[in-house]
Amino acid sequence: MKTFQIIITAFLMYFPLHGTTQELVDIADFPSQFEYEMRYATPDNFIGEVMYDCSVCLLQPEVAKALLEANQYFCEKGYRIKLYDCYRPLDVQKKMWDKVPRPTYVANPYGKGSIHNKGAAVDITLVTLEGCYIEMGSDYDHFGRESHIDNYNFSAEILANRKILREGMQKHGFGTVRTEWWHYSYRKNWSFPTLNEPLPCQ
Ligand SMILES: [Zn+2]
Repeated sequence: MKTFQIIITAFLMYFPLHGTTQELVDIADFPSQFEYEMRYATPDNFIGEVMYDCSVCLLQPEVAKALLEANQYFCEKGYRIKLYDCYRPLDVQKKMWDKVPRPTYVANPYGKGSIHNKGAAVDITLVTLEGCYIEMGSDYDHFGRESHIDNYNFSAEILANRKILREGMQKHGFGTVRTEWWHYSYRKNWSFPTLNEPLPCQ
């Protein structure tokens, strides 16, 4: 690696780019029906504290468009997307890292950070059009084998549910992470800056 590349990489590691959440859009402003269960706006999460002041799903406009199209795809199959998390400020990522400093499950905020910090990743599941629960094999943010997408030790129904979710998201430009069935990163996320503004709650 050339010297200037090392300097730039080191700079970005210690001083992530800070843009503004004004670049992000609220998915609720678009005519598509998502279900909401934003866990970090409640104490029902692995930190055990309310991390967000409101339930809002902010995303980069390009990512929001892809997610809207994905939701339409799922609607035609009899499902809707339930949102668990979207944009996440870098400071919240730091609190998560303090609690679980394991890169298998929590992206290191002092390294590249999480794609959530760019407003380009979503944590989701599927529900039926009526809002009924779909079994995926573990709860959201369960950090263990049951959450891994390469764990096939489940009923045919659960494996089929995960497959529907995965195929729909991959068709719309999202990629998986091996250890979390609920996490989808928009693949073309490299041009988006890491953000640390709090959620714009009234
Ligand atoms: Zn995630």
